[in-house]
Amino acid sequence: MPKKPFVDFRDIRARITMEQVLTHYQLLDTFKRTGPNLSGPCPIHKGTNKTQFRVDTEKNIWNCFSECKHGGNTLDFICRMENLSIHEAAIKACEWFDIPLDDVKNNGDEPEAKASATKATAKAKPAPLNEDNQPNPPLKFRLDKLNREHPYLTQERGLTQATIIDFGLGFFTGERGMMVGHIVIPIHNVKGEVVAYAGRWPGEPSDKDTPKYKIPAGFKKSQELFNLDRASKEPADKPLVIVEGFFDVIKIHQHGYQKVVALMGSTMSAAQEALIRQHSERQSHIIIMLDENPAGMAGRADTAARLSQHCFVRTHTFAKPNAEPEHLTAEEVRNLLPL
Ligand SMILES: [Zn+2]
Repeated sequence: MPKKPFVDFRDIRARITMEQVLTHYQLLDTFKRTGPNLSGPCPIHKGTNKTQFRVDTEKNIWNCFSECKHGGNTLDFICRMENLSIHEAAIKACEWFDIPLDDVKNNGDEPEAKASATKATAKAKPAPLNEDNQPNPPLKFRLDKLNREHPYLTQERGLTQATIIDFGLGFFTGERGMMVGHIVIPIHNVKGEVVAYAGRWPGEPSDKDTPKYKIPAGFKKSQELFNLDRASKEPADKPLVIVEGFFDVIKIHQHGYQKVVALMGSTMSAAQEALIRQHSERQSHIIIMLDENPAGMAGRADTAARLSQHCFVRTHTFAKPNAEPEHLTAEEVRNLLPL
């Protein structure tokens, strides 16, 4: 039995921001602020170049593009600065930021702990397989009352009727339930069964309390890859493209390339890694095309390191910062991904 108390890393991370951590180190003033982003010299390897270390203060993540070639979350940063394990860093964070340990005690084995620790060693070790591996049960209902012609889908996202119907998208016009007022996106498991509906607020939420995306409580997105049910039916010799978001998949699909799946985030879970392995062989090709921002870049490096142990991996780097696969034109998709 471990002598140290188990703590819930995710809970601790939710309670502290990168700005607080940088303030603790009296570093905040050394950074230049551009919108939600900070940039400055890397405090970890003590670099001098003022653009090589970047922080996203909304996502609370950081990345060093120089010597460290690494990024992570608030706890990873403390790990690196203090040369501590993730567990020790979490305890430190509780001390520094007055987080009562009793509040963040965790009864079980916390998968994120090991995932972060794996990242912190900068070596590509296989991710732990001790996540809650119970599959998401198929839903027993279908949402109807969907407006397939909502301008958020047709104009803002530029989707055709065929794509909207193909992916089962629509604006939920019903009057009850958590999806009221949202665009719904059905998520299928690899067998093609609907296991959840994700809700997207149509546009920018006007207040901070409205999240852009709603995922039903209890649904484990780490167990699924969006669109894998269809991508897995594509020819084996075609590269599998891995992107972050629903609309990245949907748009690339609309442009004619169907072997594409989304992580539904910028990190690959152990279960997602296992799914990709099941559906690929040693000679399979994978193209990792995450968003060109600190989270995407960190996810890209980690995903590439882990998958390259199983098959051929290519990472796609966009020339422009903050570029996303969703915004590729049909022509760009044709050039990047031969049909
Ligand atoms: Zn560095």
